[in-house]
Amino acid sequence: MLIDARDIASGTTRPYDLCVVGAGAAGITLARRLRAERFSIALVESGGFTFDPATQDLYQGTTLGPGLSGASYLSTSRLRFFGGTTNHWGGWCRPLDPLDFETRAWVPHSGWPIGRAELAPYFEEAAGVVQIVPFTDALEAERVRDSPSLLPGDLIVTKRMYTSPPTRFGTEYRKEIVEAPQVDVILHANVVRIETNEAGSSVRAVRVATLGGRQFSVTAKAFVLAAGGIENARLLLASDGVQKSGLGNQGDAVGRYFMEHPECPVGHIYVTGDRDVLETYRTRRGSLGLLCLSDRAQREHELLNASFQLGSSGDLPLPSEAGGVPLAIGPAIEALDRVGEKGAPDEERQYVGCYVRAEAAPNPTSRLTLVRETDQLGMRRVNLAWRMGQLESRTIQHAIELLATELGRTGRGRMFLLYDRAAREVSLGRPPWRGVHGGSHHMGTTRMSDSPKTGVVDTNGRVHGVANLYVAGSSVFPTVGFANPTFTIIALALRLARHLPGVVARA
Ligand SMILES: Cc1cc2nc3c(=O)[nH]c(=O)nc-3n(C[C@H](O)[C@H](O)[C@H](O)COP(=O)(O)OP(=O)(O)OC[C@H]3O[C@@H](n4cnc5c(N)ncnc54)[C@H](O)[C@@H]3O)c2cc1C
Repeated sequence: MLIDARDIASGTTRPYDLCVVGAGAAGITLARRLRAERFSIALVESGGFTFDPATQDLYQGTTLGPGLSGASYLSTSRLRFFGGTTNHWGGWCRPLDPLDFETRAWVPHSGWPIGRAELAPYFEEAAGVVQIVPFTDALEAERVRDSPSLLPGDLIVTKRMYTSPPTRFGTEYRKEIVEAPQVDVILHANVVRIETNEAGSSVRAVRVATLGGRQFSVTAKAFVLAAGGIENARLLLASDGVQKSGLGNQGDAVGRYFMEHPECPVGHIYVTGDRDVLETYRTRRGSLGLLCLSDRAQREHELLNASFQLGSSGDLPLPSEAGGVPLAIGPAIEALDRVGEKGAPDEERQYVGCYVRAEAAPNPTSRLTLVRETDQLGMRRVNLAWRMGQLESRTIQHAIELLATELGRTGRGRMFLLYDRAAREVSLGRPPWRGVHGGSHHMGTTRMSDSPKTGVVDTNGRVHGVANLYVAGSSVFPTVGFANPTFTIIALALRLARHLPGVVARA
């Protein structure tokens, strides 16, 4: 059923078995998956069915860190209406890699408390949700095997990225949720506070406000925050009535470990051999190849995960931001057999653009805090600081060098860089790395951990120390790989949907 919060009388309480806050990728997946259960569900959504500037303004905040493109980042990298940010996502889908889940000695704070195998069946199911071609690890291996690779060897390997139409969750799944007898979709309903018992160990209700000034409560046996990678943490921090530092924050982790995917164009590859191999890296039958750091490369060089996308551009190399013409990687290539020299620059079609997307490291000083300024509903606004460290810097620089060296070593191509190799440090926002920016992915602010001392939610997504409060979305990722997050968000939501009926039944 569809309910408009603006028609609900102030001071009233609406009781349900399960309350899901936010109707984006995570919230809609949960509601769809649970809609046939024999319990009542409230899907509480801030917006309506279309974009509204006044509601979107609730997302305004401030940022620190040039990779976050200034003041507009918080309000342009997400959307606050039914369907959430999937109303303008790009639809690129790929699960995290097995190594992304492991504790890596060279990546501080790494390691998920669950393994990749735990999510594998849900990745298969998630493929249907985002309407990509069927996905299993075996199918991925087959697709990679069946396409010629630009590079042999096991330092830079090819992996596939899958392309969703892109599925607009708000339009694609609206009808089935609104028509589900067990589900009430409550629109224009902004959760402004989570209310607990006196010990802070159980949630009683969420407080909901409309822009028109009405306020009411939604009670439930269990609650799920699915309000996005920033708002999930904002809601926990803002709910400081009992626990003064915010709910679930006994380990001081709420809002910390914020991660984005650093990405930027890096230059051009001159392909010396048969250009047909580039077909592997174009979108064909629902997926495209990426050149990626292998597990071996990450382990041996102590790097984060990273990938390269090859553009189909026939452009000649662009002028360097460092000034002058683009620089080849230098000695690494020159020492080899000067590949590419035979090819005259007029063979434009041999050039292909190259773009890097890397993993960010979990860093407790990259964090979201609440500032004094409030939004129209009286909630404190967000300040978000993203600090890229030495590990990201070294990963990007080193990955580029490995790619260039491998191209030269194997004779498959030659790399032309946009950046001066003298700029050893990828220094976010400073020339020549000014082009490094985040990919509009908000991750890590309510990280999953075995212990409340090191994170916010347990392996089921339940907030440590709060019996009936769960978090869904990329805020629970302890580390993030290079893959865009939504496919993993959906897999985790499907897994949570398996868990919740038992929670509701026992309550
Ligand atoms: C331009 C762009 C391109 C992208 N492309 C890709 C891509 O190709 N691949 C990929 O994997 N990811 C991509 N993303 C990221 C992707 O959109 C997000 O990962 C995904 O939408 C997150 O899902 P979510 O459900 O956690 O949050 P959202 O989809 O943001 O949904 C959160 C919902 O919660 C609601 N809400 C928020 N606060 C409250 C509140 N207090 N009370 C009630 N409701 C609330 C919001 O209105 C919204 O509907 C892209 C993002 C952008 C901006």
